[in-house]
Amino acid sequence: MSLGRFQFHQPSTTSEACALGLEYGRQSAFLAGGTELLVDLRSGRKKVDHVISLDGLDELKNITIEDGALHIGALVPLSDIAESEAVQSRFPALSNAIETMAGRQIRNRGTMGGNFCCGVPCSDTPPIACAAAAEVVLVGPEGTRTVEAQQFVLAPRVTVLNPGEILTEIRIPEQPKGTGASFKRFALRKGSALAVASVSVWVRMEEKIIREARIFLGAVGPIPLPAIKAAALLVDQKPDDEIFAQAGALAAKEAQPISDLRGSDQYRRDVVRVLTERALQQACERAEGSC
Ligand SMILES: Cc1cc2nc3c(=O)[nH]c(=O)nc-3n(C[C@H](O)[C@H](O)[C@H](O)COP(=O)(O)OP(=O)(O)OC[C@H]3O[C@@H](n4cnc5c(N)ncnc54)[C@H](O)[C@@H]3O)c2cc1C
Repeated sequence: MSLGRFQFHQPSTTSEACALGLEYGRQSAFLAGGTELLVDLRSGRKKVDHVISLDGLDELKNITIEDGALHIGALVPLSDIAESEAVQSRFPALSNAIETMAGRQIRNRGTMGGNFCCGVPCSDTPPIACAAAAEVVLVGPEGTRTVEAQQFVLAPRVTVLNPGEILTEIRIPEQPKGTGASFKRFALRKGSALAVASVSVWVRMEEKIIREARIFLGAVGPIPLPAIKAAALLVDQKPDDEIFAQAGALAAKEAQPISDLRGSDQYRRDVVRVLTERALQQACERAEGSC
């Protein structure tokens, strides 16, 4: 199938891109790396008359550190994020998540902004960003707003973005001493296989006790899904195999998986249970190591 016919726009500023997005509304789509959009256009899942390239927006292509927080430009290629010294030293779980995604060619083109904006339930970077309590910055015709990463995806392929709005940056807050995070994912093969399930964990520890925990599940719900009961169970507990197993069992119950060609509902719950245990183990080790 062909991509279909559309007019191609190449704005050089964010405000120009927003204005085009507002003018053409649902008849248009922003193009970042194109690894999702071009597949959708070619398959006919999406049809638009206008494609607005974001490639000219150089201000969205940097990773910076401000007040200890990581600011990741929406257009930074996934492979650059994974290899960034700033990301690896401040929030290695994000590098780990990206390294599991797709193959090298897709990671060289695809962006974290695009991974968020497609709103697909099996997107890998939103759950680990949610676990880190990240925020996303949106710039649109009405101005700039900041939204919690957790609030960004509303339903499969539906986000809070308004017509003409562009996601410009993902902000990962400073990770204080005593905190650690982990991303664990299972797919049917290595390389270019979408997740059957993923689990993202963040913990804060004090004197070898877990004081705060966040768990987000990927590919087993319509949005990056918080496993609220599993996370609550961990608070004020010693990190050991027994409590990890109990949290894993609760997370499996909280998952909302569908059955499809990648796995049945029950299989996915079993995967969530095991991944939660492994992610908790690693997150707690990292937290203890950072004290
Ligand atoms: C072979 C293959 C394997 C893949 N494997 C994985 C995988 O393992 N894990 C995974 O999570 N994903 C995977 N993907 C999906 C895709 O590569 C990722 O979601 C990627 O991060 C999308 O980024 P992009 O820059 O290419 O987005 P695009 O394709 O350019 O855009 C995706 C959507 O987001 C919108 N958009 C993009 N950027 C912005 C922005 N800054 N502001 C507003 N709207 C925007 C576009 O209009 C479009 O609707 C795979 C895709 C392919 C083809």
